[in-house]
Amino acid sequence: EKKYLEVEAFYLSGNQEVLLIINDYTPLYRLEENFKEFLGNASHELRTPLTSIQILIDLFSERKITLDEIYNEFFPYLRKEVERMSKLVSNLLNLSRLEAGVIDLQLKEVNLTEIIMEIVDRLTPHISKKNLEINLKIPEKVIVSADPQHVDTIIFNIVENAVKYTPPSGSIEIGINEDSDNVVLWVKDTGIGIPEKDLNRIFDRFYRVNKSRTNEDGFSTGLGLSIVKKLIERHGWSITVESKVNKGTKFEIIIPKRKEGVKDG
Ligand code: ADP
Repeated sequence: EKKYLEVEAFYLSGNQEVLLIINDYTPLYRLEENFKEFLGNASHELRTPLTSIQILIDLFSERKITLDEIYNEFFPYLRKEVERMSKLVSNLLNLSRLEAGVIDLQLKEVNLTEIIMEIVDRLTPHISKKNLEINLKIPEKVIVSADPQHVDTIIFNIVENAVKYTPPSGSIEIGINEDSDNVVLWVKDTGIGIPEKDLNRIFDRFYRVNKSRTNEDGFSTGLGLSIVKKLIERHGWSITVESKVNKGTKFEIIIPKRKEGVKDG
């Protein structure tokens, strides 16, 4: 693997000794490479719907097209494009807020089970389209102290990825285990998996294993997991991933239980 090093040399004590300072800029360069690629994709992604809208406006103002035609022929396509566009923009906004550190945690008692059921509901069209099997191994009620909106973002991104990266007729398992110290939530899929060498980079901003511009399930930004990681850290939780190419991937979120009611002395 390529490294980006900068070496500085200083002569000390009348050229008798040399001080070498080696700076490793590899992480910065990597980020920049990911970012350049992202910028290209994102620009393309934003331009496509804008161009369509522009063409429609032109056609309509020159009376070359009727409202009926717009409604019937262009609306379904346009809606999809605009959805992708707004998803990209809201991902970017989320990330920049997180980077700026301006997102507060509004801690509440949150029922994880309820959130998971609701997310599975929202993803049902995609799940059915790919004929995926969903196995839930969740107690009726699991209460943790968390920001409900952020928890939704965290779980949604992970489950959405499982759906996105699992070929048709595969299966996804969502489960929760609870012991006296932790609540552990996992999402396991039988999808394409992640190569070993990429595993520690998937939480980087803009990083994607497969660099092709789009996949059939929509735009891939490489932002989802970096947002997930940030939100998880903000809560004081942790996330781990295990994966085997062509076998599947398992994400595990570890939520330490607050030791309330336990008093010292
Ligand atoms: P996106 O999915 O928009 O590309 P993410 O940050 O959510 O961005 O994920 C980063 C990369 O990690 C993805 O591009 C994909 O290569 C890989 N990945 C994430 N989840 C899975 C999964 N469940 N199975 C296989 N690969 C995954």
